[in-house]
Amino acid sequence: LVEIKNLHKSFGSNHVLRGIDFTVEQGEVVCIIGPSGSGKSTLLRCANLLEVPQEGQVFVRGEDITDRDCHLDAARQQIGMVFQQFNLFPHLSVLANCTIAQTTVLKRSKAEAEKVARANLDRVGLNDKVTAYPMQLSGGQQQRVAIARALSMDPALMLFDEPTSALDPELVGDVLTVMRKLALDGMTMLVVTHEMAFAREVADRVVFMDGGVIVEQGPPSEVIGNPKEERTRTFLRRVL
Ligand code: ATP
Ligand code: MG
Repeated sequence: LVEIKNLHKSFGSNHVLRGIDFTVEQGEVVCIIGPSGSGKSTLLRCANLLEVPQEGQVFVRGEDITDRDCHLDAARQQIGMVFQQFNLFPHLSVLANCTIAQTTVLKRSKAEAEKVARANLDRVGLNDKVTAYPMQLSGGQQQRVAIARALSMDPALMLFDEPTSALDPELVGDVLTVMRKLALDGMTMLVVTHEMAFAREVADRVVFMDGGVIVEQGPPSEVIGNPKEERTRTFLRRVL
């Protein structure tokens, strides 16, 4: 579904991504782990071209979205993104947050958009909050609205950048439960996370990044359970 080839990204003289190659298959859940500053968020942002890489290519369903001629908006529509900060529109209700992009970008009718939004709010356990405003919700509820909003665009791939790290500990579980359910439903997911228990349980594959390269990747039982590389072991000793 996604293929990344020899990706390089620098900010000025800071060479952040130093040749990343990897793929995500349809239905796969891939968790990216690694120390702060290793380039995890930058990789995710390059995957939907929120950041433009200096070198390398990103293919989504075989289409090179780094190509100048590519219809970037169309490619991006296939990719949903959920951030650490929920980025909801504060002046819009929960329902409106989940319908606005559907009506403006996908040109769905209001009725159709609301139907889709309600189904996705139901999926994240918030069908009783459709008329609420973001500030009336807990952080965990806001993050679940952000997930429902992304799902309402019918993405082929969902990107999550540390979706639970801004939450109070007691709210983390609800969001992880929603993500676990999505994974079981067959959603293709690329998740940057510090939640090792989640990665171990839900990921089909774990990618360990350090210093802008992929140090090792494989099933969680290997990368987390029995890492080959010393750098991975050092990192895991600190976070586990
Ligand atoms: P964390 O776990 O702390 O979120 P990360 O692995 O996601 O870390 P990135 O956010 O990808 O790391 O950052 C990697 C490097 O790129 C850092 O040195 C950071 O300062 C730099 N960087 C990221 N975004 C920008 C930007 N927009 N402008 C300049 N430098 C940036
Ligand atoms: Mg980050």
